[in-house]
Amino acid sequence: MEYRRLGKSGLQVSALSFGTWLTFGKQIDDKTADKLLSIAYDAGVNFFDGAEIYARGKAEEVLGKILKSKDWSRSSYIVSSKVFFGWEKDLPNQRGLSRKHIFEACEAAIKRLHVDYLDLFFCHRPDKNTPIEETVEAMNTLIQQGKILYWGTSEWSGVEIAIAHYYAAKNGLIGPLMEQPQYNMFEREKMEKEYRMLFREFGMGTTIWSPLASGLLSGKYNNADPKDTRLFIEGMDWLKNRTLAKDRIEKAKRLGQFADKLGVPMAQLGLAWCLKNPNVSTVILGASKVDQLKQNLGALEIVPKLTDKVMNSIENILRNKPVQPEY
Ligand code: NDP
Repeated sequence: MEYRRLGKSGLQVSALSFGTWLTFGKQIDDKTADKLLSIAYDAGVNFFDGAEIYARGKAEEVLGKILKSKDWSRSSYIVSSKVFFGWEKDLPNQRGLSRKHIFEACEAAIKRLHVDYLDLFFCHRPDKNTPIEETVEAMNTLIQQGKILYWGTSEWSGVEIAIAHYYAAKNGLIGPLMEQPQYNMFEREKMEKEYRMLFREFGMGTTIWSPLASGLLSGKYNNADPKDTRLFIEGMDWLKNRTLAKDRIEKAKRLGQFADKLGVPMAQLGLAWCLKNPNVSTVILGASKVDQLKQNLGALEIVPKLTDKVMNSIENILRNKPVQPEY
């Protein structure tokens, strides 16, 4: 396993990490979850990603139960939670980034995960109804209390992140360290354009999500019509429509042919392409099956194959490279 510093911090995170969205507490049983987590840990994965909203708290309960049952030293892994969407009903104050919900969400995640503190705590989305100052202050307080070690954002705009930094610096508070954006061959704007100055100015780290665009970039929808996948879980039509959009399928087919020519599994190519970006601190893997995870864990070996020539060929298929400002 390769380890990368999370942004400018001293924290070392495995280049491949493991997430629980849609799988833990929902799509897979607890035994499979245990197996997957153990395979990841044994392969050197040291970061597990949770969120209050995943299966409305159940994903973190499953993750916590597994962590508690292992004899893994607490110093050997990093665990996260995310606050914003809530896990209860949708009453006022049960979601968002107010000081109240941030405190209550942190306490609840610590309990579900059976840990004394969270290593990483993310603001899962920006909250248009709470001043950014209130959120920065609440996160700083949690750090002072020893309940979290680092805080960050997920899917915030570059401007919102910069405001958080500005307020933190002005008031001697600890600002956000990391962002969790979607990043894959189809979603590139934030990582390759919008955040560029944040990497340079603030040493921001990133824990990127959906590296395989929910499985599309594994190639499994290229010539087949599998139904035992997340896209066919009840209520996931929105994800199915986005994932199986015609232009994406067409590109995925061409990427599949290219991966065949290169002699690598398409999933590994998609993950290695993400790993190649030096601003990616860790690629969060998702997997509902043991074979998927085992294949994905091999992606680091493919990175050296991504020469300039190979990257250019991929670019010619994707044709979506964000345009950089000329100044
Ligand atoms: P991916 O895009 O990699 O999708 C993972 C899914 O793709 C798997 O569950 C499986 O789904 C399928 N798959 C994975 N590998 C293979 C393979 N080798 N062959 C065939 N199919 C494969 O990642 P996720 O969308 O799961 O995101 C990863 C993590 O990122 C999440 O678990 C979560 O922790 C985090 N996340 C954060 C978000 C945020 O807003 N901050 C949003 C979303 C995710 P299937 O069961 O369909 O086969």
